Amino acid sequence: MRPSGAAQVAGVAGWPISHSLSPRLMAAWIEAAGLDAIYAPFAIGPEGAEEAFKVLAKTGLTGLNITLPHKEIALKIADSSSDAAKAVGAANLLTFKDGKSCADNTDVAGFLSSLEEGGADPAYDPASGPALVLGAGGAARAIVYALKLAGCPEIILSNRTESRATALAEEMAINCSILPWDRRDEGLEQANLVINTTSLGLKGQNDLVMDWDQASQSCVVVDIVYTPLETGFLKAAAGRGLKTIDGLGMLIGQARPSFEAFFGVPSDDQLDVRALLETVLRHKS
Ligand code: NAP
Repeated sequence: MRPSGAAQVAGVAGWPISHSLSPRLMAAWIEAAGLDAIYAPFAIGPEGAEEAFKVLAKTGLTGLNITLPHKEIALKIADSSSDAAKAVGAANLLTFKDGKSCADNTDVAGFLSSLEEGGADPAYDPASGPALVLGAGGAARAIVYALKLAGCPEIILSNRTESRATALAEEMAINCSILPWDRRDEGLEQANLVINTTSLGLKGQNDLVMDWDQASQSCVVVDIVYTPLETGFLKAAAGRGLKTIDGLGMLIGQARPSFEAFFGVPSDDQLDVRALLETVLRHKS
C-alpha cells in the first residue's frame, strides 16, 4: 500500500545511518501486513541528539529504533523506561505517546531469540552451562543481562579493557569470573556458549582470533557482528566442527518487538526476512 497522509510513521536514528538494514526489514513487514505506514532512517549527529529526540516525540511519530551512538542518550531523555533498558543502561527503542517517550531495550530479547532461531537443534538453552562473553561494551551489557534473565549459571567475561569487564560484572551482580584479554582462550574449555560482542571481525577490522582446539565439541559459538555474515571468528569455529550462530538473528529478533510497538500488530513470522537481508548484505559486499 502507498502511504497516505494518515500513515503511521516510525524510524531508526543513528550516526551514521546509511548502513542500517532496519528500513529494509521494517518495509518488508509493513508490506506483508498491508499497513498504511512508513519506517524511515534519521541521520542524527552526536550534537543535538537529545534535543532531536525530544522534538520528534512531539511530532506524531509512533517511535524510533536507536542505534550507535545514541543508546545511552535515548534512555537518559525518556520520560519512562522498562526494566530491561534500566538494567542495561541503554535503549534501542523509544516509543512516543502524547508527546512523552518510553525507553526499552529489545536487544535483550533479540539476543535470546537468536539462540532459538540460530541453527542449534534443539535451541540453545542459556541455563545449560557457562558462557564466555568476549567484550564489555554496549552490546555485551544487553547480552550479559539476557543471559542472567535466562538463568545462565556462570559467565566468564573477557575484555581488552579489563576494568570495563569488572565494572559490568559488579553492576549486573552475576556469578562471574574475569579473564585478562590475552588469556581469553582459557575460558573455552569450560564454556557451553561463546559470544563475540566486540566489534572485531567487522568489515575492515581484524578478526577475533581464538584457539578453538581448547573448546568443548558441544559448545555453541555466536558472533553478533553481521557484516560480514560469516566472520573469521565463526569460520574458524565452524572449521573445528562447532555449531555457529551469526548476528542476523539478533538483528531480526530485536526488530520484531519494535515493529509491534510502533504499528500495533505483530511482524509476519512466515516472511523469510533472513533471506531478504542476506541478499541485501551480498549486494553490499
Ligand atoms: P561498543 O560499546 O563500542 O563496544 C565495543 C567492544 O569491542 C568493547 O568491548 C571494546 O573493548 C571491543 N573492541 C573494540 N576494538 C577492539 C580491539 N581492537 N581489540 C579488542 N577489543 C576491541 O560497541 P557495541 O555497541 O557493544 O557493538 C559491538 C558490536 O556488536 C558492533 O560490531 C555492532 O555492530 C554489533 N552489534 C550487533 C547487534 C545485532 O543485532 N546483531 C546489536 C548490537 C551490536 P574496549 O572496552 O577495550 O574498548
